[in-house]
Amino acid sequence: MTFRTRFAPSPTGPLHLGHAYSAILAHDMARANDGAFLLRIEDIDQSRSRASWETQIYDDLSWLGLMWDEAVVRQSERLSDYNSALEALWQRNLLFPCACSRRDIAEALSAPQESSTTMGPDGPIYPGTCRLRAPDNANAPIPKHVALRLFLSRAVDVLGDDPPLSFQECLHNGKRIVEIPAQALETTVGDVVLARKDMGTSYHLSVVLDDAAQGITDVVRGEDLHDTTKIHVLLQRLIGLPTPRYHHHMLIRDDQGRRLAKRDDARAISKYRDDGASPADIRRLVGLDA
Ligand code: GLU
Repeated sequence: MTFRTRFAPSPTGPLHLGHAYSAILAHDMARANDGAFLLRIEDIDQSRSRASWETQIYDDLSWLGLMWDEAVVRQSERLSDYNSALEALWQRNLLFPCACSRRDIAEALSAPQESSTTMGPDGPIYPGTCRLRAPDNANAPIPKHVALRLFLSRAVDVLGDDPPLSFQECLHNGKRIVEIPAQALETTVGDVVLARKDMGTSYHLSVVLDDAAQGITDVVRGEDLHDTTKIHVLLQRLIGLPTPRYHHHMLIRDDQGRRLAKRDDARAISKYRDDGASPADIRRLVGLDA
């Protein structure tokens, strides 16, 4: 199979028109390429995930006619794989424990010696407070119940710059290679959290491991995640996983130009459905031919 893609919603609210657009694009691309369309439930945040939202996802996708080709993968059932990957990174001395709260980080960044606060895909670039205190891990067991961050400068050293980090961005009007200057990652990404204290993993780590485990060749997702992809490519290279092709699509916005969010119940697919819309109407509403 040369084309395998997935739709990966979190069951934390209703699917809205933006999800429908993403899922339809991925599904139609899979069908056009004689490939596979997979479904992954991203439920690592157990405090926000609900079984009822998961059921609603299955219902909405089935109603839209977007049937997935293999058994659903649920991230909450893959925690041991995430743990193993963290163990391996820990043994390589590429993680450090971090006890900083958001507030600690904000305070450290507002200190006079911090000249400017740069924002990365996950928010302010971590100022390094716990990294500077981190002991050498060699032979120490991986700490539990604490956040673990990637030791970015070491990761970049380990990778070197040959071959350079990059990914292929596929747009409707062609393909381009997006280069990721490794040396700049310290200021554009920083020591990202790979295991949150409350989850034992993170969106970045789970997505990268799952895409590889599901044999994903093409990731179709919103352009709001374009900048995040450099973290994923870095992790793929560090862990020794293939980098898929990426198709970052435009976002569906409301009349004020704001991107839709889970709170936009009025745009929920189920709402349109209850109001008598057909799946073809949903396709038209998001600008796709029925
Ligand atoms: N669960 C993520 C979301 O709903 C998926 C992002 C991705 O496709 O990588 O935004």
